[in-house]
Amino acid sequence: MKKYILLNSKRLPPFLMIFGLLIFVQSLINYANAKVISSVKPIGFITEAIASGVADTDVLLPDGASPHTYSLKPSDLVKLKSAELVIWVGEDMENFMPAILKRIDKEKQIELMAIPEIKARLQTSHNVHEHEDLQNHDALDEDHHGEYDEHIWLSPKIAKIIAQSIHDKLVTLYPDKSTLIDENLNEFIINLTETEQNIAKKLITVQNRGYFVFHDAYGYFEARFGLKNLGSFTINPAVQPGVQKVYAIQQELKKHQAVCVFRETQFSPAVIEKLVNGTDVRIGELNPLGTGIALSKDAYSQFLSKLTQQLLDCLGKN
Ligand SMILES: [Zn+2]
Repeated sequence: MKKYILLNSKRLPPFLMIFGLLIFVQSLINYANAKVISSVKPIGFITEAIASGVADTDVLLPDGASPHTYSLKPSDLVKLKSAELVIWVGEDMENFMPAILKRIDKEKQIELMAIPEIKARLQTSHNVHEHEDLQNHDALDEDHHGEYDEHIWLSPKIAKIIAQSIHDKLVTLYPDKSTLIDENLNEFIINLTETEQNIAKKLITVQNRGYFVFHDAYGYFEARFGLKNLGSFTINPAVQPGVQKVYAIQQELKKHQAVCVFRETQFSPAVIEKLVNGTDVRIGELNPLGTGIALSKDAYSQFLSKLTQQLLDCLGKN
């Protein structure tokens, strides 16, 4: 509204009027550029592959931010309200989303966990019992996992269903671009199938190498490629684990003859060093969110390939 006041005021110098006009035009352009917004980056990778050349895409969470601990910023609300389509996982993964999405047209949203074909392929969070054994309740991990594992972007099979759902929605939003959207989907499926085959060939060499993780996020990927996850340890990444906890984890590592433990960037190397001290266990790093990978048609395959390389970097050593 301010802009109109500026433009109508006869007392303003001409350069201010032009400035006001530019801001007004820019806001129209921004509005015209309304985007397809994905909540987390790996979902954004799939979205970009299908929407490429059709609509601008963007990712809500900043690179590397965990959906488990994120809170929306005022600028996020602006982004979400102006989006033509919002794609998100589900409320156990992104508990900051339902409140804002209530104010947005249902037709402009895709909640992936609500799609029947995805529901049919969900796995439970397979390390729930280990969590119970080893965690102190004051050291609850940052995850708010529900009954099912919501890290669905780590399943290539579910990724294909996600791509299909985004395709179907985009065709209804942009019917004049349906040919391109079809082509994008085909290309995505072909590339991903090839990537999956390459990954399977590489990971077959480490299928008997057991490991632990500090974040139970990789269940779908592990199931698809037959990896030997021995369990997950629940520790607070910000707090040095106590003596008892360290001892319990070291006993587990030895008992199961783990080859590696995988940390994520939120864990300082020093904390993990302490845990493997006195064992032969190596420390690897995994990134479940595609941090550092730019949005592109090929990004989802890059993401899975990078994860594969991270697994091999630790498990593949002799
Ligand atoms: Zn998680």
